[in-house]
Amino acid sequence: MDNKDSVKITILYDNNCLAGFKASWGFSCLIETNENTIIFDTGWDGNVLLHNLELSQVNIEKIDLIVLSHSHWDHIGGLTHILPLITNPKVVLLKSFSENMKREIRARAEILEIVNYEKIMKGVWTTGELGDKIKEQALVVEIGKDKGNILLTGCAHPDLKSIIQMARTISDGDLKAIIGGFHDSEELNMLEGIERVIPCHCTQKMDEIKITYPDSYLKCAAGQVFNFP
Ligand SMILES: [Zn+2]
Ligand SMILES: [Zn+2]
Repeated sequence: MDNKDSVKITILYDNNCLAGFKASWGFSCLIETNENTIIFDTGWDGNVLLHNLELSQVNIEKIDLIVLSHSHWDHIGGLTHILPLITNPKVVLLKSFSENMKREIRARAEILEIVNYEKIMKGVWTTGELGDKIKEQALVVEIGKDKGNILLTGCAHPDLKSIIQMARTISDGDLKAIIGGFHDSEELNMLEGIERVIPCHCTQKMDEIKITYPDSYLKCAAGQVFNFP
C-alpha cells in the first residue's frame, strides 16, 4: 500500500460470498494498514478460508497477527490451517478461553491474553473482554490521524451498545464504519451517524438495518473489499 494513511478490509469468510469465493457459516476478515496485516477471526472450515485467502491474493506469510474475537467454533476453526503457513505466528485471544484451548494454541504460536482494552499494534486497539456470559473482544482500527476509526466485531454477543460505547471510550476519533456480526443486538440506534454499516454473518436484524440505514448499509460477502478512507 502507498504511504498515505489508509486501511483495506477484505472479507475472507462469511455466510454470503461473491462469485468464485466460498460461503460458510462464520466470519473472518483481513485488516491491512500501512504497517501491519492482521487476520481477525478465522471462520470454521480451514479449507474455505484458504480458498478465499488465495482468491483474494493474500500473502499469508505477511500476516503479522491473528486476533480471535471469541472462542466459538465459527470464528476459530480455520486457525489450524493458517498457523503452519506463518513464520512465528502470534495469536491475540482472551484470557477467559479454556486452558485446554490456550495450551493447544500456545504449542503452535506465541499468544497474548487479553482482559482489558489495550493497544495491540500501531493504530489498533482491542476493546478487551466484554460481555457477561459469552466474552468477546472487538477491534478498533485507526484509519489515519484525524481520519476516524473502523470497528470490527466477531459475533457481537455482548451487544452493539457496549461494544460501540467501549470503542468510543478508547478513541475519540469518529467511528466511520462498523463491520462484522451484529448478532441479535436490539439497540440499532447505536448505528446512527456511522458512515458505513456492514453487518455480516450472524446479524439477525439485517432487514431492519437495511431499512433504517439505507444510505450507510453495505452488503457483506466473502471476497468483498472495503477501502478507507
Ligand atoms: Zn459466537
Ligand atoms: Zn459467529
